[in-house]
Amino acid sequence: MKSKSSFRAGTSRLPRTSKLYKSDSSKWGEFRDAKAERDRDEEGLLYCQDYLLGLPRCNIGSPELDCHHIVGRESRPSLYFDESNLVWLTRDCHEKVHAHEN
Ligand SMILES: [Zn+2]
Repeated sequence: MKSKSSFRAGTSRLPRTSKLYKSDSSKWGEFRDAKAERDRDEEGLLYCQDYLLGLPRCNIGSPELDCHHIVGRESRPSLYFDESNLVWLTRDCHEKVHAHEN
C-alpha cells in the first residue's frame, strides 16, 4: 500500500484559470489571519498602508482591514502568498487603489 500523505507535489504547475479553488481560498484565509496576528499592534489594530501605494496617508487603524495584493494574481500567481506583495487597506483606500487601476 502506498501512502499518499508522504507525497508532496511540486509547485511548478499552476492552475490555468484565475478562479480561486476552494482549497486555495481556505488557505488564503489562514494565511491572511496569520499575517493579521503578526501585524497587529499592542492594541490589536492594523494600520492602513495606503502610503506604500502612493496614496495620501489616512492613518486609520482598525481591528479589521482589507488585505490587498499589490501585484494581482492574474499577473503573478506566485506572489499570491508572498507577504511582500500584501498591504493592509481600509475599504475606502482599497476602492481608491482599484479605481486607479483603470
Ligand atoms: Zn488608507
